[in-house]
Amino acid sequence: MIVVMEKSSSDQQIEHIANRIMELGLKSHIIRGTERTVIAAVGDDRKIKIESFESYPGVAEVLPILAPYKMASREVRPDPSQITVLNFRAGNGAVGMMGGPCSVESEEQIVSCARAVRDAGGTALRGGAYKPRTSPYAFQGMKEEGLKLLALARQETGLAVVTEVMSPEDVELVAKYADILQIGARNMQNYRLLESVGRSGRAVLLKRGPSATIEEWLLAAEYILNEGNPNVMLCERGIRTFESHTRFTLPLATVPYLHRKTHLPVIVDPSHGTGHSYLVTDMAAASIAAGADGLIVEMHPNPEKALSDGYQSLDFSQFATMMKKCKVIADALGKQFG
Ligand code: PEP
Ligand code: MN
Repeated sequence: MIVVMEKSSSDQQIEHIANRIMELGLKSHIIRGTERTVIAAVGDDRKIKIESFESYPGVAEVLPILAPYKMASREVRPDPSQITVLNFRAGNGAVGMMGGPCSVESEEQIVSCARAVRDAGGTALRGGAYKPRTSPYAFQGMKEEGLKLLALARQETGLAVVTEVMSPEDVELVAKYADILQIGARNMQNYRLLESVGRSGRAVLLKRGPSATIEEWLLAAEYILNEGNPNVMLCERGIRTFESHTRFTLPLATVPYLHRKTHLPVIVDPSHGTGHSYLVTDMAAASIAAGADGLIVEMHPNPEKALSDGYQSLDFSQFATMMKKCKVIADALGKQFG
């Protein structure tokens, strides 16, 4: 951190801060300018509450230098990570494509989706068995029955299965059937759940909370990484803004921004990000163009009849078209697609 002193600060106040920095185990460098003095604290200050320096007499401002997250940062791991699960790969030049319904509804529905995803060139099947619904009266998912159907679809197609886990008690059961555990947007800051998936041994898709800052999101990833699980993917799925023409606002600058800050693969969800099936294909293509390491896209054999999120789901032919468009862009960027 850098402590910027007031113009009027005294030598005694400067000394006091320099001493305090040294007491905390860091080195201090006092830089006296013509206008102001600044004190640089050198060393890892992540465990120190740096804001507390703002209350010291003579201090104008305190500026952090190190990102508060560590394991997720490029400072700790400069090269991009690649996550591999069965044939699914994301990151470091691989674009991992996941598709499937919002919710698992029946054997016929999930197996037909899995075949359509595989035939279109995807490598992972999504499908919610435990559904976080805004209304308690809405369809809550098929639970373990749905997990069994996902495992059956994997057996039929070889696709990796990604599905949401909503509470720490369910992690063991969901991890028994799934290859990738999804942490839903509403649970991004459920820290006991993050620790629990961190210990599960499964790859994790961590969705961004609709009102979470990027720093809060990376700190959430840090909870999983700290349990010794390096297989974390970040998923931008749109944030809440004043705008109401789309369900959420999908900020694609997140993708290149995260690539500067973290080595973790960045996935985009253009389905929840827009909330309209007619916007999904273009935003999927734009996500790949922005450098996304993969997509998760909702699709359904008959979106009109879907038990959840039908209005943002592609039918099989729209899904195949979306995949073709995205592949053209991935090829142009020299990335491996699938
Ligand atoms: C979902 O993937 O169906 C879902 C509920 O997503 P989110 O957590 O991003 O709202
Ligand atoms: Mn959904």
